[in-house]
Amino acid sequence: MSSEGAVRSVAIDGPAGAGKSTLARALADHLGLDRLDTGAMYRSVAWSALRRGVDLAHDDEVAALARGLTIEITAGAADTVTVDGVDATAAIRTPAVDACVSLVAANPAVRAELVARQRAWVAAHGGGVVEGRDIGTVVMPDAQLKVYLTASSDVRAGRRAAERGDDGVSEVAAALDRRDSLDSSRPVSPLPDPAAAPGVIVVDSTGKSADEVLKEVLSWL
Ligand code: C5P
Repeated sequence: MSSEGAVRSVAIDGPAGAGKSTLARALADHLGLDRLDTGAMYRSVAWSALRRGVDLAHDDEVAALARGLTIEITAGAADTVTVDGVDATAAIRTPAVDACVSLVAANPAVRAELVARQRAWVAAHGGGVVEGRDIGTVVMPDAQLKVYLTASSDVRAGRRAAERGDDGVSEVAAALDRRDSLDSSRPVSPLPDPAAAPGVIVVDSTGKSADEVLKEVLSWL
């Protein structure tokens, strides 16, 4: 595989709460690359649809909404997201958005629009660290490093609950499982079976610190 200095493109996929954002941040810092959280884009469309009262069952309306939205994501110490000029940083992470984002992400026309924007971002940045569900399979199949990051269901729910200051781990676990099962069963770009993506390295973050996960991934370069 490539040496560290030559790595310009990294794809990170995996289920919710596996630690993708933490790893993406660490890798981007370490390799000196820009970073894109594609989940924030699907969340932005879902949030706008809820806000404007667009029926999520109407695929064409949701797709038209997605095509017209200006989504600006600024990666930094704390990422910010604005949608049509409105700060949506916190709003896109609420349980209401968690509950409907998978439906929006299963809409093929929404995916086509967002994948096109993600590829344009990669081209404009000369690569980058991109995280999501279909990055190594669809958005950047030629990425020099492809990671499928996973963790046990309990660990993923515990992390997500801690991030949100939420004590109801079992409810968070149920919501995550629901989302993962919708993301894995949709006809278009399902969350891949890790073994199905050629060249992907599978990393299980269960019981490992963020630093240990970073070291394990870097050891593959
Ligand atoms: O990564 P995050 O959990 O914020 O993603 C939110 C949702 O966006 C996922 O549950 C999935 O439905 C969708 N998503 C996707 N493809 C991506 C990134 C996210 O379908 N590349």
